[in-house]
Amino acid sequence: YRSFTTIVNSVSSDNGISEERVSVLVVGGGGREHSLCYALKRSQSCDAVFCAPGNAGISNSGDATCIEDLDIFDSSAVIAFCRKWGVGLVVVGPEAPLVAGLTNDLLKAGIHAFGPSSEAAALEGSKNFMKGLCDKYGIPTAKYETFMDPSAAKKYIKEQGAPIVVKADGLAAGKGVIVAMTLQEAFEAVDSILVEGSFGKAGSCIIVEEFLEGEEASFFALVDGENALPLESAQDHKRVGDGDTGPNTGGMGAYSPAPVLTQELQSLVMSSIILPTVKGMSKEGCKFVGVLYAGLMIEKKSGLPKLIEYNVRFGDPECQVLMVRLESDLAQVLLAACRGELNSVSLDWAPGSAMVVVMASNGYPGSYVKGSKIQNLEESEVAAPCVKIFHAGTALDADGNYIATGGRVLGITAKGKDLEEARERAYRAVEEIKWDGGFYRNDIGWRALPLKQESSKW
Ligand code: AMP
Repeated sequence: YRSFTTIVNSVSSDNGISEERVSVLVVGGGGREHSLCYALKRSQSCDAVFCAPGNAGISNSGDATCIEDLDIFDSSAVIAFCRKWGVGLVVVGPEAPLVAGLTNDLLKAGIHAFGPSSEAAALEGSKNFMKGLCDKYGIPTAKYETFMDPSAAKKYIKEQGAPIVVKADGLAAGKGVIVAMTLQEAFEAVDSILVEGSFGKAGSCIIVEEFLEGEEASFFALVDGENALPLESAQDHKRVGDGDTGPNTGGMGAYSPAPVLTQELQSLVMSSIILPTVKGMSKEGCKFVGVLYAGLMIEKKSGLPKLIEYNVRFGDPECQVLMVRLESDLAQVLLAACRGELNSVSLDWAPGSAMVVVMASNGYPGSYVKGSKIQNLEESEVAAPCVKIFHAGTALDADGNYIATGGRVLGITAKGKDLEEARERAYRAVEEIKWDGGFYRNDIGWRALPLKQESSKW
């Protein structure tokens, strides 16, 4: 592919990153991908940024050229696009194209792809695979057993007692985990997954797992097959309602840094969880390249981190706060990851904090109406300093107005000298936006700030 990129020079700079120029294609069209486009656009080494399919806000903001009609599940179409436009790096945001093998096909075509192969994506796609790796390489995680037979599962549950956690092995749209507070609930979960087949093939086998008590935290690292480079800490809010109440969502807001992850804990997560995973995957002949997003439980009784789950991509909305804080040339960092050269890279981050408040369509995460008009976005972006709006689910109507087309629609991101300032700026911008069809949480960051807890409608 090298013939398609213009090599300006290949001298390494101070932080170990070479200064080759490159055009990049970001795959996906949510807030995460918008923030990746934004960071790539600001990368000095980036010639052009494309996003497929992208969304109205990504293209209107000038952060990328959106290629709406490029089918991201058709590898040959993506490869043909890269060849035509001289794209030397593809960054895959969502999980589905990873599992479908897009990065495998790009690599075969000689195009750098940041994201795991479909085989390495099993770290997220199969809990059984992930737990097996933990066993083999001594990675701390909840004690567990795997079952295909419902009566054997119930016998084990009876022996262990409640609370206990029952999980479908495969991907179940975020619904395959049942934290059962009673034996009865656990038995029902077993029947629902193994007998009734409520998650189809994803539930042909289950994990029954020890209930861990403590504080949850997320940890992100870039991985190049052999080395891992931790990102700044970030934490999201999964529940829809204030006070972390109501049903789970894709994430209603996030902040960075996250005080729950102290420097000491971060080093421990790297040495006891991330690096053994990366080495283990390599030893298994299944090198992992991409983002490892570890869901952790900092156990109350020991204070030590245990792995709950892996995602094999950037978290959204956490990616949005990380990308506004990142000062390094993202294109070169990701190229270094693709080439197995992360050991010579260090990352620069803006000091202070960042927060993102997600605005979602009324009714989300349940059913919601599409098409409501959103106004005042430009005014909102200048209502406070250091505000950037990332679009997740917007389109333009015939008159050029933004309309909402998704559940999560906007990520209102702000930086500040500390979390208080970032929060104050983000909410000042949120309040400028005129959108009758949307809502947001009022308490993003409450775990990290001395905020008064309002009672929630949930
Ligand atoms: P997962 O999809 O595996 O991240 O699980 C979803 C959520 O279930 C997690 O974010 C935790 O809140 C909870 N959970 C999963 N496993 C456990 C466990 N072993 N102990 C306690 N809570 C858990």
